[in-house]
Amino acid sequence: MSREAIINFLRHGASQRISFTFVAPNGASVTVNHTTFQRVATAVETGQISLIETTSFSAGVGAEYCAQEIRTRSIKANTLRVPPQIGRLEAGSLLHESVHASFDLTRSGGVNAADEEAAAYITEYIYYRRTGLAPQRVINDAITRAARPIASAVIRRQPITTAQVATLSAAISRDPVYASMPTGPYLQDGGNF
Ligand SMILES: [Zn+2]
Repeated sequence: MSREAIINFLRHGASQRISFTFVAPNGASVTVNHTTFQRVATAVETGQISLIETTSFSAGVGAEYCAQEIRTRSIKANTLRVPPQIGRLEAGSLLHESVHASFDLTRSGGVNAADEEAAAYITEYIYYRRTGLAPQRVINDAITRAARPIASAVIRRQPITTAQVATLSAAISRDPVYASMPTGPYLQDGGNF
């Protein structure tokens, strides 16, 4: 998918119908909606965020938003690194990382990293559900088992409970991929998730 097509995807269609809010266990309020993706599309368009389609990721990582420069890997600050956009799984990864990029753009401090990840995963699973992705195409791990029912609740227009978020955030914190995740918030313009 071209850069133009990715910008288009963040501005139109499925991304624009993702809308939810929750109160995190630490009391922080989190909202993801069409403005989340509009903001990232504009930042990519203006060059505030660099967009790179690549297959070069660390083990267990399928996409990443790098708020901070990583000199050892020649990655500039504010870089959205996503897999070649060939299908729904890749588009889901793009939406996940766009949530992180939006948090960085808005400097929305006070949300713990695990809860920011929870918002990114809920976004992904809403997209998969809405686009009818077969459940078996996604690994059935603890994160999936916690995120999927929340996405289903959002689609049924039910509120997300803080207890549901706590369960998902705990599953994320226990996953080895997130071993180096801070217990507090990601540094705005300083984290690599
Ligand atoms: Zn993430």
